[in-house]
Amino acid sequence: MASISFYGGVGTVTGSKYLLENNGKKILVDCGLFQGLKKLRERNWQDPPFNPSEIDAVIITHAHIDHTGFLPRLVKLGFSGKVFTSRATCDLLKILLPDSARLQEEEADYRNRNNLTSHSPALPLYDEDDAKETLKRLEPISNDGKAVEICENFRAAFNVAGHILGASLVLVEMENAKENGDSIKFLFSGDLGHYDQPIIKDPAIPSDCDYLMVESTYGNRLHGEISSDKQLTEIINEAARRNAPILIPAFAIGRTQEILYLIRELEEQKRIPILPVIVDSPMAAQATQVHNRFSEEHDEEYASILTQKRHPLRTGSMMTTSSRDESKKLNDMKGARIIISASGMLTGGRVLHHAMRVLPNENATIVFVGYQAAGTTGRRIQDGEREVRIMKQWIPVRCHVEKVEGFSAHADWKGVLRWLEGLKTTPKKVFTTHGEPEAAEAMAQHIRERFGWTVTVPHYGQTVELN
Ligand SMILES: [Zn+2]
Repeated sequence: MASISFYGGVGTVTGSKYLLENNGKKILVDCGLFQGLKKLRERNWQDPPFNPSEIDAVIITHAHIDHTGFLPRLVKLGFSGKVFTSRATCDLLKILLPDSARLQEEEADYRNRNNLTSHSPALPLYDEDDAKETLKRLEPISNDGKAVEICENFRAAFNVAGHILGASLVLVEMENAKENGDSIKFLFSGDLGHYDQPIIKDPAIPSDCDYLMVESTYGNRLHGEISSDKQLTEIINEAARRNAPILIPAFAIGRTQEILYLIRELEEQKRIPILPVIVDSPMAAQATQVHNRFSEEHDEEYASILTQKRHPLRTGSMMTTSSRDESKKLNDMKGARIIISASGMLTGGRVLHHAMRVLPNENATIVFVGYQAAGTTGRRIQDGEREVRIMKQWIPVRCHVEKVEGFSAHADWKGVLRWLEGLKTTPKKVFTTHGEPEAAEAMAQHIRERFGWTVTVPHYGQTVELN
């Protein structure tokens, strides 16, 4: 008997965790951290609805923290199996998980030092040792569609999802899952990239399957016609004219590289002046190196710039900071400049210190280049709130607030339908996940209307039998 249980990434875009069971073996697909609304974040601290020591293996679709950030906690709570993921994702996790641990520790430390905790002392969800322990379990897999054994009764094939470097679609084969001894094939879209995104390849054609899970972040929205380069050009030129800073909250892996790639292009095309670009994120420089290493993930344009011995991710006047002191020195800088810092939704990290200076400055600009989940400080600012709480202080929002949608690393609903058109046979059932409730429902409806398939929007904690 086989089944799937939904323990995250349902009713929200965060916390992705899907438990597959087959003939007594259990694997978890993705192991993400919940972010955003307090009610969700509290789940990170509760006992998971399964026993971590009973999980035989974990499959990771891509490096983002909402798909991987719970891994060290899983290990801390007794998981001792292997973690299968693409080669590039493995390398990104080596940067990302220790950093996530440091952020957890710094946050706990900050709360303790400033008496901001109701739990005393405040503890981190996990520490750097837990992260290191997790890295030992990584099993790198080629992102090329060839199936490998995960554990008894489970095989999986990883293929390019086009979302961020290393992101995979994963076809899980559950052996002997049917009464007659046949396998069940379950395809996970992971986070699906949009077509023609810079740097990385387009999503691979989906494999035929019995069951399909597809993400729905943009299930009820389209990216729109205005190109991101046009929008960013105007924003940067405006800020140069006002001689004031631009703050771009961006995830250090993927989004930061995409922005650097675009700024370099705009500079080369002389559409914007060369401004100082400060990448204030200890991870971003390392992530950039990983980007150049995995040529099998690059699209043609990126590969061709590299063969000309140019650096696709370096702008005309760029500096990266790694230490906290270097980061603090940035506070004294004056004039027009572009600061790129994580986290992308202002949920933590160095970007908060920059935000406290930029938000009250009426000449400055904050530019959102990624999806802002409900409940995050980023979402509040984007929704027009005039005052937000950062590190327990009320900060007025007087700066220009801009949003550049085209940067999304997610396919919108038309992109998802375009990808689904690649299927040659009808899946028995489709699940729409990784969306806020309206988006997941809308995506389900789009699929029903276009293809006439059976589509379900699962809810948290639900188990569905597979046959
Ligand atoms: Zn993602």
